[in-house]
Amino acid sequence: MTSAWTLGLTGGIGSGKSAAAEHFARLGITCVDADQAARWVVEPGRPALAEIAGHFSPAVLQPDGSLNRAALRAAIFADPAQRRWLEALLHPLIRQEILAALARAASPYAILVSPLLFESGQRALVRRGLVIDAPEALQLERAMRRDGVEEAQVRAILAAQLPRAERLAKADDVICNDGDLATLHTEVERLHSFYLTLDGGQA
Ligand code: ADP
Repeated sequence: MTSAWTLGLTGGIGSGKSAAAEHFARLGITCVDADQAARWVVEPGRPALAEIAGHFSPAVLQPDGSLNRAALRAAIFADPAQRRWLEALLHPLIRQEILAALARAASPYAILVSPLLFESGQRALVRRGLVIDAPEALQLERAMRRDGVEEAQVRAILAAQLPRAERLAKADDVICNDGDLATLHTEVERLHSFYLTLDGGQA
C-alpha cells in the first residue's frame, strides 16, 4: 500500500536534514531524496542526458558517457536562456522521479527530503513541511567540517538558499537542531509519534 501522506523535510545547508532523515529512516519511514532524484534523471542511458548532449555539445559528457557537471555548469553559468532550457527539461523529470519513488513508499507516511522544498515547486508535493533549523554559526561549522571546505564556499550556498526566517515562516513543524545528535533523535521520535496519529486526510 502507498503511504497515506508525504512530509517535506527541509533546512539550510548543515542544519542537520540528512541526520534527521537518517533517524526517520531508522524508524521505518521511507525517505526520498530530491537531490538524488535530480542525479538519477541524468544518469547514462536516461533520455535527458542524450538531449542535454545534443542541445549543448558532447563536451558536457565525460569520456565514460556520464554527465560532466562542471562543463554543464560552465555552459549555463552566464546564459540565463540556457539555464531556463535546462530547467524546463529537468524539473518535470525530477518531479516524476520523486512522485514515482513516493508512490513506491509503503511506510505509514513518507518523507521528501529537499534542501529547496520551499524554493522549488516541491512544496506542492507534500502535505506538511518540517524545517530542521540551526543557528548560522552552527550550520557553517558543521558543513565546513563535513565537506572539508572553506567558510566562503558554505556562505555562497547559504546565500543562494531561502533566508532562515523565511524558511521558518513557511514551516508547519520545526526541530531546533542546536544540541547534540541524541537530542535531535529524541525530537525526531517525538514528531514521528505525532505524525503516526495523522491520516492521509488531515493537514
Ligand atoms: P544537511 O543535510 O542539512 O546539510 P547534515 O545532516 O549532513 O546537514 O549535518 C551536517 C553535519 O553535521 C553532518 O556531519 C552531521 O553528522 C553533523 N550534525 C548534524 N546534526 C548534529 C548534531 N545535533 N550534533 C552534532 N553533529 C551534527
